[in-house]
Parts: sequence; C-alpha cells; structure tokens
Amino acid sequence: MKSVGINGYGTIGKRVADAVSAQDDMEVVGVTKTKPDFEAELALKKGFDLYVSIPERVKLFEEAGLEISGTIDELYDKLDIIVDCTPEGIGAKNKEMYEKKGLKGIFQGGEKHDAIGLSFNSFSNYGDVYGADYARVVSCNTTGLCRTLKPIDDLCGIKKVRAVMVRRGADPAQVKKGPINSIVPNPPTVPSHHGPDVKTVLYDMDITTMALLVPTTLMHQHNLMVELESEVEVDEIIDTLNNTSRVMLMEASKGLGSTAEVMEFARDLGRSRNDLFEIAVWKESINIADGELYYMQAVHQESDAVPESVDAIRAMLEMEEDPQKSIQKTNKAMNIF
Ligand code: NAD
Repeated sequence: MKSVGINGYGTIGKRVADAVSAQDDMEVVGVTKTKPDFEAELALKKGFDLYVSIPERVKLFEEAGLEISGTIDELYDKLDIIVDCTPEGIGAKNKEMYEKKGLKGIFQGGEKHDAIGLSFNSFSNYGDVYGADYARVVSCNTTGLCRTLKPIDDLCGIKKVRAVMVRRGADPAQVKKGPINSIVPNPPTVPSHHGPDVKTVLYDMDITTMALLVPTTLMHQHNLMVELESEVEVDEIIDTLNNTSRVMLMEASKGLGSTAEVMEFARDLGRSRNDLFEIAVWKESINIADGELYYMQAVHQESDAVPESVDAIRAMLEMEEDPQKSIQKTNKAMNIF
C-alpha cells in the first residue's frame, strides 16, 4: 500500500483524494489546507488527516476548532509521493521543497512543462514517466485533446490537427471570475498554448490551436479538424472512439445536444460531485470530407484529468508497468467507462 499526500485540497485536490482513496493499492495519508474553510472541514468529515500548508497559520485552525495532524513538514516523511494540487505557479515553487526532502511529486496542468521537466497522460506517454521523480499531469483541455486524438492517430495516422477551444470562463464556485457577458479570444494571440502542450505528451503531433473564453462554468467545448494519413470511414472512427476508455459518444438526437444536457447526464450517473471523467464526443458531429475528419467534444474541466493522477502515481512508484492495466484498475475503482 503506497502512501500519498495531497497538497492543496481544492477543486482538483479533493477529487484526487477521493480517487486515490477508491484504489486498493494506495491510500491518502494526509491532505493540506492553507485556511480553515469549508473544504478543511470537509476533509476532516471524510476522514482525511489534515495538515496546515502554511505553518504560521496553525493558530487559525485551532481557533476554528479544526483538529489538525500537524504542518506540512510533518507530512512529508510519511509519504511515498505527493500530489501537488495548489494553484498555478505554486507547484513549481513547491518542487524545490520536495526535491530537498527527496520526495516524488506529481503536479497539475497549471504548472509549465519546463518548470517540471516531464508531462504525463495515461494513454500517451505512461512508459516515459515510469519511475520518474517529478511529472505534471497535463491540463483538462490537453487531456481532452489527447484522449481522442491518440486513438485516431493509432487507427489511421494524423497528418495535422487544427482545433478551436471554447473554454469555460470559470469553475462553478469561482464567483469573482468572468466573463459574464462577452466572448473573449483567450489568449488573444494565435496559436494558443494548448497545441504545444499536447506535444509535451504526444511528441510528434502536428497541432495548432486557438481558444475563446465564454460565460459558462459547466464544461469546455472543442472543435477539431484533423487531416488523416490514410482513408477511413466515419463508422471506423465512431467504433474506435466508442471502444476507447475514458471517452463517451453523446447523441444530440437523444437529448444530449449541449454541455448543459451532458452535465445533466453526469448528474444522473450519480457519481460524487456529478463528475464526468470521460470526454464526451458528439456522435453526429463526426464527419470526414476530403480526407479531413471533423468532430466536436466536451470536457468536464474539474474532473477529466483526475484519473490520470492515479495512473501517474502507479507509473512513478513503479507499481504497474503496463499502462492498460493501470488504466483499467483506476477505471474499475472509480466506475469510469
Ligand atoms: P483551487 O484554487 O480550487 O485549489 C487549490 C488549493 O490549493 C486550495 O485548497 C488552496 O487553498 C490551496 N493553496 C493555495 N495556496 C497554497 C499554498 N501556497 N500551499 C498549499 N496549498 C495552497 O485550484 P484548482 O482548480 O484545484 O487548481 C489546482 C491545479 O490544477 C492548478 O494547476 C490548475 O491549473 C489545475 N487544473 C485545474 C482545473 C480546473 O478546472 N479547476 C482543471 C485541470 C487542472
């Protein structure tokens, strides 16, 4: 049983904590919080040991009546690996501390690839991360792109990808972010960083992306145009995506024609937090014209990359050499299709 710590029990951290707890070969030994807020209370209610990530703030937790197990310094020694789920940019700074402690670490997509040195996606480069000390699970958007492009590349080869990403303005709980009533090219420059980010795990993919922010909190939406190496039928693409783990086909004709309806479906699945770990591809959007494949997909930004953190733990701690075995084990424990 491997011992895992979660630094930053927020949107991603609390999901990774539950995902790790669902496995039978690893356990959460502690989670950290910077302040005694509702998420700190939640961690305790769920039975996680709570550590304070900014030691000077111990008093705040005591005043709030929250039982802490110590500061983050006391957590490090108990761990085989730490999953850093702190906000963008903080993970890279924390890496110096993990290095000093000789502790392996997994980071999230908000960190820059160069700051960590190695990126990870379960389906794209599991073997390259096997035994590594530090790796970053690519972002929600990049995970979404990799999940569908990799099986298509394996089926018929990809010459070139162009993708337009319609990004959610904020996560549901982020009351201070926008836009509220605007469509914002973001970044305003073309190409966006998403294409280069895909290449950190699918090294040879020729991909160019551009992105917009829109006033929604539910999901991201991607529009892909893919030049193919060899001729295939639409049905072969449908069959391939249908048989790809962590990908789901959705049909507008069955009432799933929008991100709102896809998230209603996710709520109906009855999973914790209404998470949709799978990438939802609209079946009717899949078309091929002049050797170019077109399709549209939706990404639940808060959860899609979470199972990848579990696989990254298995790869980095050399618990399972075969990516498919880790993926299936993670899926089974998390009830993922
Ligand atoms: P979040 O703000 O919801 O959670 C971050 C947590 O870290 C909070 O509990 C916060 O209190 C804590 N924290 C803040 N400063 C800290 C510090 N100095 N030390 C320790 N903990 C600290 O953020 P999030 O959305 O979970 O994002 C975490 C990472 O995951 C980022 O790299 C982000 O880019 C990435 N990510 C986010 C999403 C998403 O949609 N939210 C999707 C994929 C990847």
